Amino acid sequence: MSRRGKLIVLSGPGGVGKSTIVSKLIDNPSFYFSVSATTRKPRLGEIDGTSYHFIDDRSFDDLISKNLLLEWAEFAGARYGSIKDPIDQALSEGKNVLLEIEIQGARQVKASMPEAIMVFLQPPSFEELEARIVNRGTDSPERIAARLDLARSEMAASREFEHILVNHRVEDVLEALLSLAAS
Ligand code: 5GP
Repeated sequence: MSRRGKLIVLSGPGGVGKSTIVSKLIDNPSFYFSVSATTRKPRLGEIDGTSYHFIDDRSFDDLISKNLLLEWAEFAGARYGSIKDPIDQALSEGKNVLLEIEIQGARQVKASMPEAIMVFLQPPSFEELEARIVNRGTDSPERIAARLDLARSEMAASREFEHILVNHRVEDVLEALLSLAAS
């Protein structure tokens, strides 16, 4: 039987660059990226089923009530959740599964799967994070303000994680993640 894959949780404040890291790892055949369900509207360029499963509130309620989510959380006015079945399947096929999720969800994963490798991606400075959130240009001013508030409290959660990676250079973060998966 092949070895069970590792579950890697990549978390950190919104806007820190988690999705850039994920987009680079997606092509690696030993990784399976868990496509989350969300009630938020697609941004320009996002593809349903690839970026997220974009669903409405009722369908999200359904996923919760049928216990199909490994974790879920509310973030900046929308709900996000990781769908259990494909994650279990990939792990049993020996693939390393990458969850790119916010902090509350990361805590739930750690509680139910303590073997998960918990990684916090940290910006080089708060000012840099602030600039990224403001300059993204896809959110309304109210949403930007909410995201900045959240980011402040999310930064404080770094101490809960076993691994902290500072996002100076994408290549270095990728290398660190690959070596964690191989460990
Ligand atoms: P965005 O709206 O910018 O795509 O994502 C907002 C936040 O939700 C990010 O911090 C992202 O990591 C997080 N997120 C994405 N998918 C999930 C998920 O399935 N569960 C949880 N808890 N957070 C998620």
